[in-house]
Amino acid sequence: MAGAERSFRTPALILRRFDLGEADRVLTILTPAHGKLEVVAKGARKLTSPRTGHVELFTRAEMLINSGRELGIVVQAEMVSPYLALRDDLVRGASAGYAAEITDRFVSPGEIYPPALFTLLDAAFARIDSDPDPRLALRYFEMHLLDLVGFRPELNECVIGHEPVQPQDQFFSYAEGGVVCPRDAVRGTSHVPVSMLTLKIMRHLQRSRYEAVRDLQISRALHDDFERVMVGYVSYLLERRPHSADLLRRIR
Ligand SMILES: [Zn+2]
Repeated sequence: MAGAERSFRTPALILRRFDLGEADRVLTILTPAHGKLEVVAKGARKLTSPRTGHVELFTRAEMLINSGRELGIVVQAEMVSPYLALRDDLVRGASAGYAAEITDRFVSPGEIYPPALFTLLDAAFARIDSDPDPRLALRYFEMHLLDLVGFRPELNECVIGHEPVQPQDQFFSYAEGGVVCPRDAVRGTSHVPVSMLTLKIMRHLQRSRYEAVRDLQISRALHDDFERVMVGYVSYLLERRPHSADLLRRIR
């Protein structure tokens, strides 16, 4: 179908955008059925643009896209979920920025992912927007994103000896993608210590529905430790630390 032009309607989450020329914008969007796309929103920077205005970062829109050329063209865009706090609140906004950045980095254009990926990010934007602990909502998203893109951390058995993990402080190997017991840690590489308490919360988030974890009271120290392990693992996989992780730390 090379060169063939076709239009389709799709829900879209706005991950990234940059200005193009005087009036246009290029958007990186995540869709349920077409994966990650780069599309041009013509006239998006003109406040008066009636058809493609209001394409804000970290919102969900319904789009009509004309594809067939190098970049799709957004013919119509209507915002469905504005997630206002993601633009009004610095910490919530930077948290959504981290979720969008790692999604953008882990997801390859042209590849099809389970629709659960779209649902997970949409839910993450909503939760980061309005739940009491946006940091917990972000960790939950990160844990389940890793699952959907093929990097589910192994938290129940030692990734070197394959024996069940004992209730004691452990290590987490970025290279092996999971827990390493203290005995086998001497043979592993690129691992960091992970306390029993941090491992417990990691496992809880990995195996639970969000509703079962959203009201947990997590201390700042535990959050910091959880973040150290997870952002470390994400940075290892992506081969650099996400910019938004540093921004988030500076804001806090
Ligand atoms: Zn072991």
